[in-house]
Amino acid sequence: MRIPLIAGNWKMNTTVFEAVKLVNDMKSRLDAVTKVEKLVCPPFISLSKISEILKGTSIRLGAQNCHFMEKGAYTGEVSPVMLAGICEYVILGHSERRQYFGDTNEVVNKKIKAAISAGLKPILCVGESLQENEAGKTGEVVTNQMRGSLSGIEFNPGLVIAYEPVWAIGTGKAATGKQANETIGLVRRTLAGLYGEKAAVEVRILYGGSVTAANTTEFLSQPEIDGALVGGASLKPDEFISIAKQTAAL
Ligand code: PEP
Repeated sequence: MRIPLIAGNWKMNTTVFEAVKLVNDMKSRLDAVTKVEKLVCPPFISLSKISEILKGTSIRLGAQNCHFMEKGAYTGEVSPVMLAGICEYVILGHSERRQYFGDTNEVVNKKIKAAISAGLKPILCVGESLQENEAGKTGEVVTNQMRGSLSGIEFNPGLVIAYEPVWAIGTGKAATGKQANETIGLVRRTLAGLYGEKAAVEVRILYGGSVTAANTTEFLSQPEIDGALVGGASLKPDEFISIAKQTAAL
């Protein structure tokens, strides 16, 4: 019932030239993968160019962040309204934004509201730090992030959640499929508390954190996991395509 989503977060990598090359290297092979939604999220500067390259394909486009205002005196920022004509998705609350750019739950909440009203589908990232994990606080942290980030927001069918334990991002230390499935089950129960059972069953919840072609099946074969948010491996065409293909085969 939930179509799996394989999303690539390119982070602050690739010049426009490199981004064009990367997407061209993947385009036809990724387009050919069915039964899975494929999404790439390049840096802002490449979005417009890549949206032209992806026209007519089944590959979706997303941004990695946005501001919460529509327009105005916010030098250097990009508004959801600007993105809406180009992208379908926007990643919000990524742990790197929370850690380095002051994206608190309150800020993420404003961004989600603005993204939804611009017609974008938000991918809300939640996840605990190593210290929080070791202190047994994973559940508490993740539910607080969800409640805070989604406060006052009505259910939106485009909403996607990505559970990304901070200690697993870019470290090569992925969680186990079982650990990820348990926390994602909790994320779904939290959604049920916020929006009801029907909504909770509809929302796709992704795992993110050192996903590679080698561990895709471990995560994607778990009943609660509906896809992956992939960082490093999304910059390698063969790897990213293999993740999408393996997901489609499950
Ligand atoms: C991410 O950036 O969201 C991520 C999960 O990165 P990586 O796959 O490199 O751990």
